[in-house]
Amino acid sequence: MSISEHTNLPQEQETLASFVQRVRASLGLSQHEVALKAGIHLQSLGKIERGLTSRLNYKTLNGLALALQTPVEYLDAVSKGLPLAATTELKFCPHCWTPGTAPDPLWTHARAKFCCFCGFQLINRCPSCSEPISSMKFRFCPFCGCSYKAKTTAG
Ligand SMILES: [Zn+2]
Ligand SMILES: [Zn+2]
Repeated sequence: MSISEHTNLPQEQETLASFVQRVRASLGLSQHEVALKAGIHLQSLGKIERGLTSRLNYKTLNGLALALQTPVEYLDAVSKGLPLAATTELKFCPHCWTPGTAPDPLWTHARAKFCCFCGFQLINRCPSCSEPISSMKFRFCPFCGCSYKAKTTAG
């Protein structure tokens, strides 16, 4: 399975409707498959893609993010019409980040590669299975169960 890392980044001023359509097309999934994976009604997905729904509830947001293999933050930003952040990426330091909290803006800066606090290399995917991190609100990888926070080896 090959996933392009760039296609699921929202474009500037892209609407939720076109973002969802584009990412779904890039994954080669039908509306039916996405609705099924996201755990939402086919009708609801149709409405989203026709631009009739712009506010997503928590469950839809998370389901869609999983189905479209895109971070919840991206969907959230496009649905709210927020200018995401061509300059922002979901990245964090596995040592300094406190799971469940927002990552430090210095980590998510597009050009940041290393932690400003400890110098460790920033990561944007699961350290164990390499699946993209779908939300910074998650403490554990939904794919392999690995903790996103690095284990401290010595006591
Ligand atoms: Zn650090
Ligand atoms: Zn994982």
